[in-house]
Amino acid sequence: MNAEIISVGTEILMGQITNTNARYLSEKLASLGVDVYFQTTVGDNFERLKQALSIAFSRSNMVILTGGLGPTGDDITKEAAASYFDMPLYLNDEALAAIEKYFQKLNRKMTKNNEKQAMFPKEAIILPNDNGTAPGCIMEKGDKAAILLPGPPNEMVPMFEKYVIPYLKEKSRDVIYSKVLRFIGIGEAALEERLSDLLESQTNPTLALYAKEGEVTVRVSAKAKDENEAKKLVEDMCGVLISRCPDEFYAYGDDNSLVKVVCKALMERNLSISTAESCTGGLLGQNITSIPGASQIFSQGIITYSNSAKMQYLGVREETLKTHGAVSCECAKEMAQGMRRISNSDISVAITGIAGPSGGTAEKPVGLVYISLAHKNGVCVKKFNFSGSREKIRNYAVLNALNLVREYLNGTLDKQGEKLLNKNKCSVWRIFIWRIKRLKKKAQLTKRMLY
Ligand code: ATP
Repeated sequence: MNAEIISVGTEILMGQITNTNARYLSEKLASLGVDVYFQTTVGDNFERLKQALSIAFSRSNMVILTGGLGPTGDDITKEAAASYFDMPLYLNDEALAAIEKYFQKLNRKMTKNNEKQAMFPKEAIILPNDNGTAPGCIMEKGDKAAILLPGPPNEMVPMFEKYVIPYLKEKSRDVIYSKVLRFIGIGEAALEERLSDLLESQTNPTLALYAKEGEVTVRVSAKAKDENEAKKLVEDMCGVLISRCPDEFYAYGDDNSLVKVVCKALMERNLSISTAESCTGGLLGQNITSIPGASQIFSQGIITYSNSAKMQYLGVREETLKTHGAVSCECAKEMAQGMRRISNSDISVAITGIAGPSGGTAEKPVGLVYISLAHKNGVCVKKFNFSGSREKIRNYAVLNALNLVREYLNGTLDKQGEKLLNKNKCSVWRIFIWRIKRLKKKAQLTKRMLY
């Protein structure tokens, strides 16, 4: 099954709002096995919307529209779709009663123009709106279907999940099953390179890589006659993916964040953690304590921003700061060890670095971060060269600190005690090779299209 998305709204065309609806729908449709080849944005203009509908239906049997279902004259989505299908609109009593009820609930008076929102073709399937006044609808004619959803995401998303997903599942003869795998400590380019043969030959299941800040997810989706068959296809592929990146795979699922996974693992093993932070200013501690039940594992966190605080509270040696500076492997190590000493926790993590945008030098550039983990058998330090804004660098530092804990718990951290890695230097090469490969692929594709 394939579908197109039409986002209706002059505000989107003018760049006043970000089209998050199209992003959401594309992602959801992909996970449901519906292919989306085109997305269109059109202003609140009747003729242009009809034209967009006619172009979309010349390529796809299903078109999902969002926006323009409001009560005012410039809300024309339903009118344009009904006109495209040549279906007159009638006042639907049930829809009108639901709108009236919504207004009563809010203790507000319904205005006459809200009646427009209760006008539908007789054949339409009406989708109730539990979070607003504009009901959605599905108009079907022959093998074509237009699905009309309201613009506000807090109305569109619940309507899509409650009514459209079951509709799509019923329409599809195949069962779709999908699973998301989460990877950390590997960039999108490097992961794509490791999976290149699978990505090139994918048919069923399909693989979709998605880079989020500091991590990469892969969605594996399969279609089959029944759920067991689709599940088996997905599970087999997941097994292959994990075997390619056993150290970097950390969890399944859309909402299984790294901090959740790490905290759960600490809770299961009854291990306590403490943090000593400099450039992240408590962000690591904040992340850990955002997890319910964190009191079971988090003993304390200290923000030691100045040199004197590092010496006073963590026992970092003056000699270390003079010789190596606060942003150094040695300082990070002493911070973690000091934290473990004063907190008596099983694990202590320390972060020191230059978040920028100023303060960098040729020797110690912005983005240089040392993360250290002290444990009962020793201490280890990793060196990172992050790039991006101050906010990004701080977030990457926290994510990688959590990843260090994960590696320690998995037993994949260097056991000798100290390990220095410059991850970004390796990935610069990987990205370079990946870009060349991509250019080659594009050239081959253009060649194929030309001949
Ligand atoms: P309403 O009944 O609230 O008027 P509507 O269905 O007519 O809803 P629009 O008037 O087109 O929707 O948009 C209302 C608001 O919804 C916009 O101001 C914007 O905040 C949000 N919105 C609309 N389209 C999108 C989109 N594609 N992505 C994100 N937000 C959107």
